[in-house]
Amino acid sequence: MELGWIVEDIVVRVRRLFGPFRALDWPAFLDLIGLQCRRVAELPVPALLYRGTILVRAGLDDWTTAWWIYHEAGHFLLHCGDQREWRDLACGDLILAKQERQAMEFATYFPDWGIDAAS
Ligand SMILES: [Zn+2]
Repeated sequence: MELGWIVEDIVVRVRRLFGPFRALDWPAFLDLIGLQCRRVAELPVPALLYRGTILVRAGLDDWTTAWWIYHEAGHFLLHCGDQREWRDLACGDLILAKQERQAMEFATYFPDWGIDAAS
């Protein structure tokens, strides 16, 4: 996955502000950026951000949970507004696809996964 310049800039800024984070240290990261997390059984998607709380499906393994937490944190740091509002625009599908890609990039590149994510 190629890291876009917008996400790269946010990754650099957030690391500068808060330091690097190991992937499983997401609770401390969420505290710093002011988000909560709640595990929810039978969530229809793996995770979603709702009013300052990341809802994550209960029962996911620790690494998958961490990845989705950073994905939703990426949406929080990179994107304004509600996805439903963007979807209703004429080119909403393209905007949402770009936002999803950016959130995936953030989740992949911001935390230290203990591997070289770029390889
Ligand atoms: Zn997303």
